[in-house]
Amino acid sequence: MLWLALGPFPAMENQVLVIRIKIPNTGAVDWTVHSGPQLLFRDVLDVIGQVLPEATTTAFEYEDEDGDRITVRSDEEMKAMLSYYYSTVMEQQVNGQLIEPLQIFPRACKPPGERNIHGLKVNTRAGPSQHSPAVSDALPSNSLKKSSAELKKILANGQMNEQDIRYRDTLGHGNGGTVYKAYHVPSGKILAVKVILLDITLELQKQIMSELEILYKCDSSYIIGFYGAFFVENRISICTEFMDGGSLDVYRKIPEHVLGRIAVAVVKGLTYLWSLKILHRDVKPSNMLVNTRGQVKLCDFGVSTQLVNSIAKTYVGTNAYMAPERISGEQYGIHSDVWSLGISFMEPLQLLQCIVDEDSPILPVGEFSEPFVHFITQCMRKQPKERPAPEELMGHPFIMQFNDGNAAVVSMWVCRVLEERRSQQGPP
Ligand code: ATP
Ligand code: MG
Repeated sequence: MLWLALGPFPAMENQVLVIRIKIPNTGAVDWTVHSGPQLLFRDVLDVIGQVLPEATTTAFEYEDEDGDRITVRSDEEMKAMLSYYYSTVMEQQVNGQLIEPLQIFPRACKPPGERNIHGLKVNTRAGPSQHSPAVSDALPSNSLKKSSAELKKILANGQMNEQDIRYRDTLGHGNGGTVYKAYHVPSGKILAVKVILLDITLELQKQIMSELEILYKCDSSYIIGFYGAFFVENRISICTEFMDGGSLDVYRKIPEHVLGRIAVAVVKGLTYLWSLKILHRDVKPSNMLVNTRGQVKLCDFGVSTQLVNSIAKTYVGTNAYMAPERISGEQYGIHSDVWSLGISFMEPLQLLQCIVDEDSPILPVGEFSEPFVHFITQCMRKQPKERPAPEELMGHPFIMQFNDGNAAVVSMWVCRVLEERRSQQGPP
């Protein structure tokens, strides 16, 4: 090992190494590594993947003393870089200079578009991971360019399997399973993986896999990206795009101008699903995900009847967002999704009032705008047929008012709430 060959500098092995990951045109993220000499190339790609979740990074570069860029693509090249870096650190120490962090430049990242004029920060902290970067400068959360089409191609090529996935933090538990933040080794990407225990026959497993096929065809910026699914023993893992803002259920009171933009995205997502003849069947705040780029996406829609049935065998129940006709066992249709859409945008207090036999709930006057109240009440008409049809939803004044594509509003709000949560939690 080259590290053992670094005879003249044994103290370096115990030193904390700071790697500064440079983001083109904008800033940098400092990552403190406590196990510098053991650091692997993959670890660095892993962290770059957290810092630039939308880019596909396969290598990175560092600069030598002449400013020439040297590419690192393997553990061997990593060792050469660290060896070179530690020799410069020794020089700085001897000369009594401040120790500069090791600067690296991720390669094959999409160049950022517009600048982060609001100085927003991206949540790049990675829970219990040993290799967690801390944000030093502002990152261009709005400008990280979308490369999910590329990622889809890499991931959806029948390549998803358990061996390539490293499970990280638990993002949450639902009735059906557990969702993990996970690292996909071959692509270096962070994913959300939902793991559901299902004691079913091989035949049913095959049926679920084929029903999930349609997800590869779903291509909308309002629907969570699907990267693949696989069975291992009695559990299915469903791999999707990771949304760094999480789901709407954990956000407290959302201002109406933000909620309006979220509602627009949800309506567009539902309209897209309905156009594919897919009913969502589980519209609720925990299935609406947001990210620091201001995107809003739907997840957990009932694309596989068999999967829905198999989960229902272990969990039978209703939830507060279900339409009255569903609770009473009548036919489910687009209108039932519309009810759940309406109730999802109400405050929890009003949710409690919603009992099948009572009148539809009404929002308190004065607190919300008239179009908003009208939108909710229309979606929550007792008679399914009286609820707005898809095109009426899009044409509703509340939706039209906020249908301006202004993702920055949602982005700033998500970033602010995440920042508040982080400062309440204190240092990691
Ligand atoms: P239910 O099982 O009744 O649908 P649920 O939606 O809360 O309830 P899960 O779907 O298992 O349960 O999700 C658990 C949590 O994981 C969600 O509340 C959400 O916060 C988080 N989560 C799910 N998918 C993602 C994702 N793609 N990116 C980030 N967080 C996610
Ligand atoms: Mg869910």
